[in-house]
Amino acid sequence: MTFTDYDAAPESTSILNIREHYGLFINGSWTNGHGESFTTISPSTESVITTVSEADATDVDRAVKAARVAYDKVWSRMSGAERGKYLFRIARILQERAREFAVAETVDNGKPIRETRDVDVPLAAAWFFYYAGWSDKLEHAGLGANPTALGVAAQIIPWNFPLLMLAWKLAPALAAGNTVVLKPAETTPLTALMFAEVCQQAGLPDGVVNIVTGHGTITGSALVAHAGVNKIAFTGSTAVGRQIARAVAGSDTRLTLELGGKGANIVFDDAALDQAVEGVISGIFFNQGHVCCAGSRLLVQENIHDELMDRITRRLSTLRLGDPLDKNTDIGAINSKAQLDRITAIANTGEAEGAERWQLACDIPDKGFWFPPTIFTNVAASNTIARDEIFGPVLSVLTFRTPSEAIAKANNSAYGLSAGIWTEKASRMLAVADELRAGVIWANTFNKFDPASPFGGYKESGYGREGGRHGLAAYLTEGEGR
Ligand code: NAD
Repeated sequence: MTFTDYDAAPESTSILNIREHYGLFINGSWTNGHGESFTTISPSTESVITTVSEADATDVDRAVKAARVAYDKVWSRMSGAERGKYLFRIARILQERAREFAVAETVDNGKPIRETRDVDVPLAAAWFFYYAGWSDKLEHAGLGANPTALGVAAQIIPWNFPLLMLAWKLAPALAAGNTVVLKPAETTPLTALMFAEVCQQAGLPDGVVNIVTGHGTITGSALVAHAGVNKIAFTGSTAVGRQIARAVAGSDTRLTLELGGKGANIVFDDAALDQAVEGVISGIFFNQGHVCCAGSRLLVQENIHDELMDRITRRLSTLRLGDPLDKNTDIGAINSKAQLDRITAIANTGEAEGAERWQLACDIPDKGFWFPPTIFTNVAASNTIARDEIFGPVLSVLTFRTPSEAIAKANNSAYGLSAGIWTEKASRMLAVADELRAGVIWANTFNKFDPASPFGGYKESGYGREGGRHGLAAYLTEGEGR
């Protein structure tokens, strides 16, 4: 037996109380959509979780109208301190139901329970706590003496952090006094639907939060096209972000876009290497690489390339891929067959274009969607795997000789969301950070999130910021609200 051979330690699913069918959550109650219901499956077992309603344009219209009435009659008239009480209540309920939410997110998304339990759910609660505190202090947010809400916000989120992205969207919008219609991703609606129950538990006034489920091309596009929304907040792919930007161009609907990324993790030869190894690995293999700000391009100083790669592959060989409910599991399932196919295709392109593939040798479960951690060396800056977002557990390694070459290579991307710098020299850290075109830059760490810290991109990674005081600006106006 080696130290990696642990007995299975699966988290029980007995805490879950999943309904056989979920309707839409509109105006504080459940109602069936006019679209065709669809089934959701667990990506690690392919077993059915539940069926979910699909909202068509008439359902979306009802949800937007409910949000408008709630805005006009209740939420916009309530004091900030009162709104804050609801947000504090939601945060506390999320904490109380933390285990249930963690298990549900793991079943629905495929990510390891270790991550949902220690990252997704605690951070979601932290986001509500943080913005609850802002609710009665908006005049101190640096947006004028009397900032007011925008009105009804339409929010569309992806599948990689379903509950956390919901919290990133809802908490600032509600704190600022907006009402919301939120659409979760079609493969991961479960925790958003459970969150609707949290709203009921918290006694949130009807219509303040409405959750409509369905596919992007049906429910999502109906929400974007609705003339009654004052603000659209979208997190997802750059391709869909572009479509949304075109759809609202020329209207007075406000828009923020959190899109894709191709983050550079830069390791200099003076870095603390074992620390850098941990940061590089968590930078790309956390959440199976389904992370917009993943450090998917490793830029390593040429003279330490072989040593660093040796340490990285040795460390990776201790990671366990498998049942995401097992508390020993490091790498869970890919969220869907479609995403697995996409990752497989782009990795094959990497090889075809001449890069060298290293893949973790591990057992792949019979059922479900899996892709072992993969590293490509000998990658040229022009290769597809160095340019396109893969959104999977695939690291592309490039080398550099000087800091200026590292900066040029890091910035040689259509995206500009995140970057990491590993060096023991603070002066180098600051000088390099100054030159990087990325919205978030970590130094000697990676993938650290905090509700007080703004997050967002440059270039094709989108515009607008979420988190911190800046995150409020996306939901407030200095003039009169509507
Ligand atoms: P996606 O763009 O396909 O879907 C995102 C959401 O948009 C889903 O709810 C989907 O149903 C909806 N949608 C799809 N087509 C739509 C349309 N025409 N109109 C309206 N809504 C539509 O993206 P995805 O594959 O679910 O998510 C992965 C992407 O999200 C990656 O590119 C990733 O980088 C990005 N992402 C960005 C951030 C960030 O903060 N920058 C965070 C997480 C994920």
